[in-house]
Amino acid sequence: MPIKVKLLDHTHDPIRSLYTGYRTAYSSLTPMQIDERIEDGRISREKMTDFIERRLQTGHASPLEQIWFEFGISGVTRTFSHQFVRHRVGISFEQQSQRYVKFKNATFPYTIPQSVKKAGKEEKMEAAFEKLGELYQEMLDAGVPAEDARFLLPNATGTNFKVLVNFQELLHICDLRLCTRAQWEFRKVASLMRAEVNRSFPEIGMYLQPKCGERRWGYCDEDYEAWEACPIGKKRPHKRDMFELFNSYRKGELIPLDDADYKIIEKEDSGVA
Ligand SMILES: Cc1cc2nc3c(=O)[nH]c(=O)nc-3n(C[C@H](O)[C@H](O)[C@H](O)COP(=O)(O)OP(=O)(O)OC[C@H]3O[C@@H](n4cnc5c(N)ncnc54)[C@H](O)[C@@H]3O)c2cc1C
Repeated sequence: MPIKVKLLDHTHDPIRSLYTGYRTAYSSLTPMQIDERIEDGRISREKMTDFIERRLQTGHASPLEQIWFEFGISGVTRTFSHQFVRHRVGISFEQQSQRYVKFKNATFPYTIPQSVKKAGKEEKMEAAFEKLGELYQEMLDAGVPAEDARFLLPNATGTNFKVLVNFQELLHICDLRLCTRAQWEFRKVASLMRAEVNRSFPEIGMYLQPKCGERRWGYCDEDYEAWEACPIGKKRPHKRDMFELFNSYRKGELIPLDDADYKIIEKEDSGVA
């Protein structure tokens, strides 16, 4: 079951909408006047993206809620879907029903994880699913409603979504689900959603990163052991180390090497009391 994600629709022009939102907050112009200036070219695309970039470095997030994206998602499992629907703010889901959609021909779509294949257990898993498919069909044929026959189906069963999500929530989902601590299937869906946004709107797609990304928090707040084991951890600091460094700075234990570079020195070596 290949996972597919497609950006079906979106706010007509997210850059223009974001700019107008932010500008309205910081300008004496009305939103209509700002819009007119965009329309007649007085405010260029470059100016809009520059301004948005600077705003995105602050905590001013409400304009991000006014930008929306609609995705079609297929070939995912009920394992994924259970996690996906835990996101509750700024996102709306339509999911294929197991009450109104009956699987046919004594079979159902499913995914076998790579780890199961690597462990050489693929065939056994498939055989179990084949048996479940047969019993599922038997129950339907015996008049059991689909809403009850589905009690047999495993977490691996396939499902499809159409979702609407605003940009603020999409950033949050990527914060959590692009993290190497997230489940592989959710990481895959999040990275495909990011790729879709990036394809059409790279100016804002680049902010879709795991939470440790330099355009997001810039540090990891997971368990220290998890950070040590994470490949991205080699590039991005852990929160604990950042605070230790900051405390050293406050205590005067850091000396500047140049404007931007600092080195921790031993107190006795430096002579700092
Ligand atoms: C790696 C990982 C492991 C997980 N493991 C488990 C697990 O073992 N068991 C389990 O049950 N769940 C688990 N979860 C799910 C997790 O607990 C949340 O349910 C999930 O991340 C969605 O919640 P959210 O707060 O991000 O929701 P969202 O709706 O995406 O939240 C968006 C933002 O709004 C805030 N928000 C949402 N609702 C409220 C509210 N009512 N009041 C105030 N602020 C609000 C959130 O804090 C967040 O900042 C896991 C998640 C991850 C990423």
